[in-house]
Amino acid sequence: MKKLLLIQSYGIHRQGLFVTQSKYPPSGLGIVAKLTPSDWEIEIIDSLSSSQFNHKADLVAISSFTPTINNAYQIAAHYRERNIPVIIGGIHASILPDEVSQYCDSVVMGEAECVWPIVIRDFENGKLKQRYDAQRCDPKEICSPEYRLFNKGYKLNTIQASRGCPLNCEYCSITLLTGAKFRKRPVDHIMDDWRNIEQGFVWFSDDNLFGFNDKDRQWAQNLFSRIEAENFNKNWMCFAGVRSLLDEKTVAMAARSGCKIIYVGFETTDADSLISVKKSTEQLKYYKRVIDLLHKYGISVLAGIMLGFDNDTPESIDKRIDFVLESVIDSYFLTVMTPMPGTKLFDQYSRAGKLRYTNFPEDWGHYDWTELVFTPSRMSVALAEEAIFHAYQKAYAFQTIKNKFRQTREGLHSSETAMLNYLSNMDFRETFLNRI
Ligand code: SF4
Repeated sequence: MKKLLLIQSYGIHRQGLFVTQSKYPPSGLGIVAKLTPSDWEIEIIDSLSSSQFNHKADLVAISSFTPTINNAYQIAAHYRERNIPVIIGGIHASILPDEVSQYCDSVVMGEAECVWPIVIRDFENGKLKQRYDAQRCDPKEICSPEYRLFNKGYKLNTIQASRGCPLNCEYCSITLLTGAKFRKRPVDHIMDDWRNIEQGFVWFSDDNLFGFNDKDRQWAQNLFSRIEAENFNKNWMCFAGVRSLLDEKTVAMAARSGCKIIYVGFETTDADSLISVKKSTEQLKYYKRVIDLLHKYGISVLAGIMLGFDNDTPESIDKRIDFVLESVIDSYFLTVMTPMPGTKLFDQYSRAGKLRYTNFPEDWGHYDWTELVFTPSRMSVALAEEAIFHAYQKAYAFQTIKNKFRQTREGLHSSETAMLNYLSNMDFRETFLNRI
């Protein structure tokens, strides 16, 4: 029986976001496993595994994203030296296939569903191609991961209910990978995943589970009512955009089905920063309304806030942190604004000579959303770094996190929800204050 080794790369030298250890299983590799013919033996190596090296295999496939790509190259070199062919896929490979193809035998671009069976067939026939460029698949074809192969140490598991984001933000590469069309999986398929997950907590990994228009909202409502009907004692969380959370009926249905936290993409509290990345400022007027509405139904708010916009100053960064700490937001993810490769902003900053790290591929490790990778317009790099570090120290101080815990417990009348947010904040503290 042939053996396929599926490896999730991670950042061996850095502590960045989701880079050293993931809190949830590698769902992309789980999908590849599911698509592999049953006469193959499959092993998944992830950040909970003791080593990425010296496993036996006939074929190795590595999933990677920009900050971890150098680890993928290191793993690839190790197995290729032993004459084991290596395939690399994931968002970085999809965006920079020419770079990635220098370090492996084959690059898989795009979504695995349409192409992985062809890759395996070609390998079996000794005809593995250097590059496979997959189409975006029909939402009915989006595959469930092979959950049984995941490491048992994960406390939560993920479901991908949709793919695609029409917003195409200037700094984000998600739309480049998954397209601008919001592709919704049939609710029956999502419920199959819900039933197959053993853990008591599910993270919907979609970019915006509440969708972008009325039709999306009806689909989300249908999903929430099905979850409510078959709950099996599970709670869940998801990502959502500010405007998608204005509909009270949908929020109430989400809460009844077990939603405990929503990661809300606030991004910033300044009109100027939104304008600097060519985004509408309309969302600013809804922040309080969205926070109050989620709290009314017992759903806590994990705020996604970015620091280090091009036109930020120490004062604007400070003001943003004050908003987070003075509001009733329960937990917060304070990333550094990072133009990812392939995006408009990356090209713009590159042309303007603003990027601080351009020795690629070695420098991709800096693009992990915890470090300022460009020179801002209104302050020096040193001043910006100091302001960002000061913001982390303030927001993730033990006493602040404890105060937030009490605030959530009293405001939402739930120790369980308060603890979920406390643990999130402690995780973020670890990530941001201990980064190398
Ligand atoms: S940042 Fe979020 S909303 Fe913007 S393109 Fe990326 S996934 Fe979509």
